[in-house]
Amino acid sequence: MISAERDLTTVHKQPGAGRLSPCMAGRLQKEYRGREALRGKGVSANMAIRQVRTMGDDILRKECKPVKEMNRRTKQLIEDMFETMYEANGVGLAAPQVGVLKQIVVIDVEDGNQYVLINPEILEQKGSRTEAEGCLSIPGKHAMVTRPAYVKVRAWDEEMQEYELEGEELLARAICHECAHLRGELYVDVMEGELMDNEEEADKE
Ligand SMILES: [Zn+2]
Repeated sequence: MISAERDLTTVHKQPGAGRLSPCMAGRLQKEYRGREALRGKGVSANMAIRQVRTMGDDILRKECKPVKEMNRRTKQLIEDMFETMYEANGVGLAAPQVGVLKQIVVIDVEDGNQYVLINPEILEQKGSRTEAEGCLSIPGKHAMVTRPAYVKVRAWDEEMQEYELEGEELLARAICHECAHLRGELYVDVMEGELMDNEEEADKE
């Protein structure tokens, strides 16, 4: 499902960095690994980039509340979360990272899908993988984190339709990482060893 070269071990390599504008490259941060900048797809004039909260902000440590119904405001939040994630070169973002304590996650691991996970619940997990992992809320850093190699999650989409999603490798990692945000947990809580600095090359372009 996810090819080896797109694995999280490529966190330092920034394969897409050469195609970023200089200002984008300057702000490059990684959620799990580098990815290409903002895509045209799905970007509307109404979208807004929100401020990403960083470690030390208490909101990242709070439990998020379930979403009971979809409304215009929550739809706008979801659009803004995608916009913010793409702008920051991430592959996943959870609502508390933009200061909203709701159980909403967006993920795009470049498998052709834009996943919206509302009130997600992990049903099943198998195996384990230890890889470098980053977070938009911990800019410029990464660490080794062991996550399941496979997860199955139940969630609601932006139309509040229930669905199940199975993910392996990077998608499994993204699901686990983002669901942890909804419980107020960060990867530093479960990392192995120390936080490491990302290489600077992409930022100096
Ligand atoms: Zn994160």
